[in-house]
Amino acid sequence: MTPLLELEDVHARYGPIKALHGVTLTVDDGQIAAVLGANGAGKTTTLRAISNTVKRAGKIRFAGKPLGRGGPESVAKKGIAHVPEGRGTFSELTVTENLRLGAHTRRGSIKDDLQRVYSYFPWLEDRGTQEAGTLSGGEQQMLAIARALMANPRVLLMDEPSEGLAPQIVAEVMTTIRRLKEQGLSIVLVEQNAKLVFDVADDIVILNSGHVVVDAPTAELKAANIDLHQHLGIY
Ligand code: ATP
Repeated sequence: MTPLLELEDVHARYGPIKALHGVTLTVDDGQIAAVLGANGAGKTTTLRAISNTVKRAGKIRFAGKPLGRGGPESVAKKGIAHVPEGRGTFSELTVTENLRLGAHTRRGSIKDDLQRVYSYFPWLEDRGTQEAGTLSGGEQQMLAIARALMANPRVLLMDEPSEGLAPQIVAEVMTTIRRLKEQGLSIVLVEQNAKLVFDVADDIVILNSGHVVVDAPTAELKAANIDLHQHLGIY
């Protein structure tokens, strides 16, 4: 089976700083691939390379075809939505306005998209006129996910959705991620917290200084009881 998303020998840099040194990874249809690594390992840059928000070299294929270099809008139109680090919701806009922005790459009515998103997060419908900045951190994370879903993606790129949230809220976010997978979405989940992803991810990729140092099914890593600390740069 052709993987839904494939990165082959992807390099990326910020001016003179090389952030990715030949990253190769695949995400199968309907699966969750977690990308782990210490601060500065290149996790965020990997997501940016996919959504074409950083200059990159190497091949990226989506559904068997080259993804192209058309910028984030074209990537979103093709079916890849990005939930950025720090949520990226607009605090002075209302919940509904934020959701509408998530659909800006779509044409025609977004009524069905709103209904679909409300079926995941019923509370959003009641809070439609509330300013996003007045939501709690967990609610803003859910809104960021909901906004990305408005583009009706096949793949969701999620950058540290647990960051800055209380453990109970993190558990809710992880439950949401599982539900999205059950609905058929494929997810690239960037996390610092290895424990969190072991329960949700099908595959685990570990980056260290822009290199892939581990790429294996989660079940295999669990069965082998491998100590990942060394790969994660935690001693
Ligand atoms: P974190 O967990 O801290 O977000 P990360 O694994 O996501 O880390 P990246 O943000 O991808 O890592 O950073 C990879 C490398 O690129 C690091 O050396 C970082 O300092 C550098 N870098 C990231 N963003 C920029 C930027 N906008 N300008 C210059 N260098 C950058």
